[in-house]
Amino acid sequence: MTDPIPFRPRPKTAARSAVVVGGGIGGLACALTLRRAGLAVQVVERAKKLREVGAGLQLTPNATRIIRDLGLLDRLQEVAVAPLALEVRDGRSGAPLTRADYAPAASRFGAPFLVVHRADLQNLLAEAAREAGCAIALGADLTSVEPAFGSVRAVVNQGGDLIAHGADILVGADGVRSAVRAHMGAMAAPVFAHRVAYRATVNLPAGYPSEVRLYLGRNAHLVCYPVKGGTTLNLVAIVHEPQPVARWNAPGDSAAVHAAFAGWAPEVRELLKSAPHFLCWGLYDIDPLPRWSSGRVTLLGDAAHAMLPFLAQGAAQAIEDSAALAAALSAHGDAGAALKAYEAARRSRTARIQREARRNGIIYHLSGPPRFARDLVIRRQGNALLDRYDWIYAA
Ligand SMILES: Cc1cc2nc3c(=O)[nH]c(=O)nc-3n(C[C@H](O)[C@H](O)[C@H](O)COP(=O)(O)OP(=O)(O)OC[C@H]3O[C@@H](n4cnc5c(N)ncnc54)[C@H](O)[C@@H]3O)c2cc1C
Repeated sequence: MTDPIPFRPRPKTAARSAVVVGGGIGGLACALTLRRAGLAVQVVERAKKLREVGAGLQLTPNATRIIRDLGLLDRLQEVAVAPLALEVRDGRSGAPLTRADYAPAASRFGAPFLVVHRADLQNLLAEAAREAGCAIALGADLTSVEPAFGSVRAVVNQGGDLIAHGADILVGADGVRSAVRAHMGAMAAPVFAHRVAYRATVNLPAGYPSEVRLYLGRNAHLVCYPVKGGTTLNLVAIVHEPQPVARWNAPGDSAAVHAAFAGWAPEVRELLKSAPHFLCWGLYDIDPLPRWSSGRVTLLGDAAHAMLPFLAQGAAQAIEDSAALAAALSAHGDAGAALKAYEAARRSRTARIQREARRNGIIYHLSGPPRFARDLVIRRQGNALLDRYDWIYAA
């Protein structure tokens, strides 16, 4: 155990209390940064317990730097893996196309690239939030958001009882299908990306190197990296899907996965065959929103800017939002002004990442001559593959 999170009350913040709706990575990171800024924090989470949703997450230096500033990097490193490199391979032949070492970029940005199981990160954040004095109500499903004079109330259904949590501000960190966003009247229909993610974790094969591997092919790609302190390999198979798939963290059809990767390199097929089962996610993002805040209510994480996972930035941007919101509340005397400043600081960056992630989704699945052109470019890149994203990692 490392030291508890430093708690420095700052009486001049624009708000003294917050209700955070959603206890995912975004909501819990937000609870911590707001608590650290001196606010009393109540998290309300619909799930009855913080169960394992998802599998691995890549955490880039823009996120690990904030986790370090929260005093949690040592604890994170106990459960995470610091991979040595990103290797891109051709999916059909298995031949390496390029390799980028993480070390130069990590030292440039002063924070590591890590890969971690989402449940480990979520548990760590929840534990740290509770230690810091945040209240977390589980089984609390938001039913309405009620503005009140100089405050706002979140009404939740908890075991059949309606309970109101009043606070100076309310943060909607309730994911891509955000109820808070709907209560604010912000129109944003999730957009299906014609992609489905199948995720699994398997025992780390003997001799598997400590690296992130990306196999590219026509209409599909596979990402693999070790998690759980290097004992387990996380597999994320992304497959083209013409019809909208509403499933989210639902049992996936293994036969569909094997069919999508038939004809790929034996090492790919072996890895996929080793998975006892897959969980399936239809992939959705939203178009950038024209505004995130209304009065004393704002959005954070996927609720504000759900993005496709092809830049590994959804959780990282939620963590960045959390730090930016706490900074804005500390810098302004008025809650409404602070929320506007937070939104102004974050909207264009997250919109750019949303657009780039969509673009990567197309580039990864190219076939024919465009694929050859892509591979020619990738082959020349080496470490420059990561340098392209300095604008993301350096923030
Ligand atoms: C296949 C895949 C791979 C990914 N890989 C990466 C990666 O490598 N790196 C990375 O940074 N990101 C990655 N992401 C993205 C990342 O997982 C998400 O962006 C991030 O988890 C979003 O966090 P969030 O807290 O905003 O939303 P969520 O995780 O969706 O959390 C929202 C929470 O709100 C709760 N909730 C919803 N409605 C209500 C309600 N009415 N009342 C109360 N509670 C409610 C939900 O139960 C949930 O716990 C990936 C995503 C996918 C699908």
